[in-house]
Amino acid sequence: MNNPFENALNQIRRAASLASINQEVLDELSVPMREVRVAIPFVRDNGELQILEGFRVQHNNWRGPFKGGIRYHQNVDIFEVKALATWMTFKCAVAGIPMGGSKGGVTFNPKEYSEAELEKITRGWTRAMKSLIGPEIDVPAPDVNTTPQEMAWIADEFGSPAVVTGKPIANGGSEGRGTATATGGFYVLEALVEKLGLGSEDKKVIVQGFGNAGRIMTEILFAKGWKVIATSDSKGAIFNPEGLDISALGAHKDATRSVQDFSGAQNLTNEEMLELECDVLIPAALENQITEANASNIKAKAIMELANGPTTPEADDILFGRGINVIPDILANSGGVTVSYFEWDQNMKGEHWSETKVDDRLKTTMREAASAVWERKEKYSTDLRRGAFTLALERLSDAHPNS
Ligand code: NAD
Repeated sequence: MNNPFENALNQIRRAASLASINQEVLDELSVPMREVRVAIPFVRDNGELQILEGFRVQHNNWRGPFKGGIRYHQNVDIFEVKALATWMTFKCAVAGIPMGGSKGGVTFNPKEYSEAELEKITRGWTRAMKSLIGPEIDVPAPDVNTTPQEMAWIADEFGSPAVVTGKPIANGGSEGRGTATATGGFYVLEALVEKLGLGSEDKKVIVQGFGNAGRIMTEILFAKGWKVIATSDSKGAIFNPEGLDISALGAHKDATRSVQDFSGAQNLTNEEMLELECDVLIPAALENQITEANASNIKAKAIMELANGPTTPEADDILFGRGINVIPDILANSGGVTVSYFEWDQNMKGEHWSETKVDDRLKTTMREAASAVWERKEKYSTDLRRGAFTLALERLSDAHPNS
């Protein structure tokens, strides 16, 4: 399995070789500013003590306070958290928001724990990190398997709403945060659709992952008249070449906790689904899904990474050689952190913006970022990922304390 932090470093080096970036800036960006591992002891519902491992990596804060989500997953380790923190730094720079990059995680499978246990774990992580986070220091947010509920517990345990984003509206959350990652992704796709040669009617899309990012993406695409022909979750995939009825699928997923066995659709494995013909393939689950093992078999016309790190650098080269554009994660899913920044800004100013105001600002931010990335891609005759990384490197170099 690819080490995602090595992938992130590789992506930075590849972009830096195109633009003239100061070597010292690059060296500093290759090492997170702080890496923290903590023990989280808590008593399970059955009375037994359990000790989990928690992480926070603060990659870089030249452009503003560290910002990044918290992941609950059995595969969380320091390399994954370092990679995700690094991508946050670059993502905030691409989106042009004044925040840095960090990420956190706890290594366990939350599906095996009760709500009361999840609260203890979340509060335990917050106590362990209390001196390292804060509204002007480091601001966590949701990621895989964490939701507004976890964010509300963090805000309460820390004692300030502005310490965390992605909170429920009643706890100081922003309008539009829950749907921001997918909405932002859709604005990016809309901005690039013609440039990517996807101008025809009846566009067919595949979305891997049916969680916060993926499920909302399928709902937006369905509402806009695009055809979602396949989607998946950790249990497997489903496929209907005529397009899936996404509202019926949502009800099926809620009732059965799986997308599989959906009426009128064929069950497939996640691996099979990735190789189906389509206009846009949208990975929205986990890292390392498109690798050198399957990149030659991908039949999508374009890929948009709603997940973080779904494509390895080796796969990038294969796809670029085959003329398949990949809209990189640090652009495609930056809508989430953008509205997180809006939420933080509202909390700091004691304001609450309307949904329309949030949406207008998100749309403007995403369009500007998409066109700046496209400009770099053209300027350096390269792929969109290197375009996005060069843009971020320029902005980060400008923000270096000694620049
Ligand atoms: P989530 O936990 O809500 O959903 C994850 C989905 O992926 C679930 O449907 C799960 O069943 C599925 N999944 C897990 N393993 C899988 C596998 N092996 N194959 C196929 N599907 C699998 O998480 P999320 O918040 O939607 O995050 C998904 C991705 O998007 C992550 O890479 C995350 O870092 C990224 N992301 C999320 C946000 C956000 O605001 N939620 C923002 C930026 C990036």
